[in-house]
Amino acid sequence: MALGTVTASDELRFDTGRVCLDLLATTHPVERLGSVEVLRAWITGSGLVPADTPLTHADPSWPAAFRELRGRIGPLVRGRPAPGTRSYDLALARVNELARAAPPAPRAVPGDDGALVRRLDGPPELAALLAAVARDAVELLTDPAARASLRQCEGDNCPIVYVDTSRGRRRRWCSSEVCGNRERVARHRRRAALTRT
Ligand SMILES: [Zn+2]
Repeated sequence: MALGTVTASDELRFDTGRVCLDLLATTHPVERLGSVEVLRAWITGSGLVPADTPLTHADPSWPAAFRELRGRIGPLVRGRPAPGTRSYDLALARVNELARAAPPAPRAVPGDDGALVRRLDGPPELAALLAAVARDAVELLTDPAARASLRQCEGDNCPIVYVDTSRGRRRRWCSSEVCGNRERVARHRRRAALTRT
């Protein structure tokens, strides 16, 4: 790859603290899950599978399935539409349905230096990967402490929802390098403009 080349997978973000929220973040600022290649990078980057897991069997139906799951998790996490409405109930039923499948089975196997490393029992099936994300959503939604720590980034038009595990619960941004930095730059500009007038 040429120096300076930026691929879509370079911009994938994994800073929400939960794999189901990392999946939600793939809509921002533009659709990330538009190709199998980027989805493979997302599956590995999110920690759903160990780093060297072969994903060559992923086909174009995979990104569509992940986008569909993402569309169901969104309303549940954000509580919009409100619980009890038809589309909320449908989303809940779908996530529960996907969570029924078994997630990929992990194995501990000796690595080159003898230390145990995590591998999967075989190439993970789509249903197993969707189940792992759906189960994470079920756990998050039913965990009162985690739910109480859900925050939406304060950045302009940033929809990213994360779990605030910071000391004192003072985290304001999805990422201090992205939205936090943008805010610092804006504040600096405002101050500079004030000085000039
Ligand atoms: Zn943000």
